[in-house]
Amino acid sequence: MKATLTNYHTHTSYCDGRCQMRDHIRFAIDRGFTSLGFSSHAPLPFPTAWTMEWDRMDEYLAEFHRMRRTYGHRIELYIGLEIDYLDECHNPALPRFANLPLDYRIGSVHLLRDPEGRIVDADLPADKFKRMVEEHFDGDVREAVRQYYARSTAMLRHGGFDIVGHADKIHYNASYMRPGIMDEPWYDALVRSYFEDIARQGLQMEVNTKAYQELGVFYPDARYFSFLHDLGIRIQVNTDAHYPDRIDSGREAALHALRRAGYRHVMELHDGEWTEAEL
Ligand SMILES: [Zn+2]
Ligand SMILES: [Zn+2]
Repeated sequence: MKATLTNYHTHTSYCDGRCQMRDHIRFAIDRGFTSLGFSSHAPLPFPTAWTMEWDRMDEYLAEFHRMRRTYGHRIELYIGLEIDYLDECHNPALPRFANLPLDYRIGSVHLLRDPEGRIVDADLPADKFKRMVEEHFDGDVREAVRQYYARSTAMLRHGGFDIVGHADKIHYNASYMRPGIMDEPWYDALVRSYFEDIARQGLQMEVNTKAYQELGVFYPDARYFSFLHDLGIRIQVNTDAHYPDRIDSGREAALHALRRAGYRHVMELHDGEWTEAEL
């Protein structure tokens, strides 16, 4: 089948999204999407401003089913979670996540631990990321990057998810602190060996277009698209929309870049099955 408009990485007011499921659905139908999935930030073992709490999980699932009854004849709707890899004890492989009736799970790394063991958010705007690294890593951005990759690799080892969320998202912030860091051999080697691990496990990756409109970058960066293609990694394009009008943001540009890199297919969910759709 030919590629259609799809998006499996969206957030609503169940976590830090700025709208209801219904709003995303209406925009998606209006733009001609065939398939849409929700991926709230899964609960962490402590409260945050951006994750859903366990006490809202039943309501999250119930609301999804209400939406599917209302809109399911106009668009395929799916329910997932974006689950954090925090450490050995909290990650997408937890039975509590595995037991949820979800269509898919996205595994992402947002959090690091500083040398004192304090949990720090690394998924920040560039200026705040810089302050975080200065405060918690003595300004050593290489240490933050190494730990980000150690955690990302540990996430692969534990498993429990289907799609690698915004791989190498740290690249923009790391480059802001240390221009040219992506061209440094140690950095490139970390990224490539992570992608090789992903390929070995047969996991899907997303090209995350959330920042494309403002920053002009994808996660992972487009420079790696042909490498991912050579590794045979299956890709889906997601916008990580927190607002309904971002449902399609950066998507077309990502598809072009993937085509230029040799991709002829992207992954779409249809009738509950991941399907290769022709670009
Ligand atoms: Zn994320
Ligand atoms: Zn997200």
